[in-house]
Amino acid sequence: MLRHNDWGEADRILGLYTLEMGKLRALAKGVRKLRSRKAGHLEPFTRVSLLLARGRDMPLITQVETLDPYLPLHGDLSGVTYASYVVELLDRFTYEEGENQDLYRLLVDTLSRLCVLEERDLILRYYEIRLLDLVGFRPQLFQCVHCGTEIRPEDQYFSARLGGALCPRCGSQTEGAQPISLDALKHLRHFQRSSFAEARRARLNPALNRELETIMQHYMTYLLERGLNTPAFLRRLRKEATKESLDQKNLPG
Ligand SMILES: [Zn+2]
Repeated sequence: MLRHNDWGEADRILGLYTLEMGKLRALAKGVRKLRSRKAGHLEPFTRVSLLLARGRDMPLITQVETLDPYLPLHGDLSGVTYASYVVELLDRFTYEEGENQDLYRLLVDTLSRLCVLEERDLILRYYEIRLLDLVGFRPQLFQCVHCGTEIRPEDQYFSARLGGALCPRCGSQTEGAQPISLDALKHLRHFQRSSFAEARRARLNPALNRELETIMQHYMTYLLERGLNTPAFLRRLRKEATKESLDQKNLPG
């Protein structure tokens, strides 16, 4: 469950991310009444099992059972802050557009990791890059997004507008491109193609964490502000991608 808003006198509208239906909203009736049996199960950042019934405007929650309350996250302010960030990011990058089971698993895994592991910053940086992947904005980190040459082991640039790394020659001439250290680039690449168990072996010092965070924030803010994550835009992207692959198949020879 992502968030809730009060509705009427005793009801609540819940924002959910589900395994089988992706993102959706559902109405929990009477949940704010004293001693409602459902209330305790319907807190933000909890994993629940729900039974839904068809409602007039949106599904109605008829039964709820907690699967994982992620208790350690609720216990301290920093836990709540980290979990809020995870949920907010997912919320902003998704629409009610049906299931994305990989994304659901990423969310569940990330919240569980935040409960039991100490390297919370690393968990978030890994989450960001995997999330971008799963919503269609995997940054290009291996070839220069302008000239296509292979990115060499040296300090580079990153362009939010072009969606990836730039070689030093292109980067210095591209408006809005930000410098990115070799170390930061290496870590982004590592996270992009590794399981969490592998990614976890990386050591993030505070300076490196800040650099990665700044670059990803800048990139994600750019995508969200331009509305590049809207359903219409994503459909267009997918259509172009299909057309491209069809064109390639139609090449003679
Ligand atoms: Zn270049």
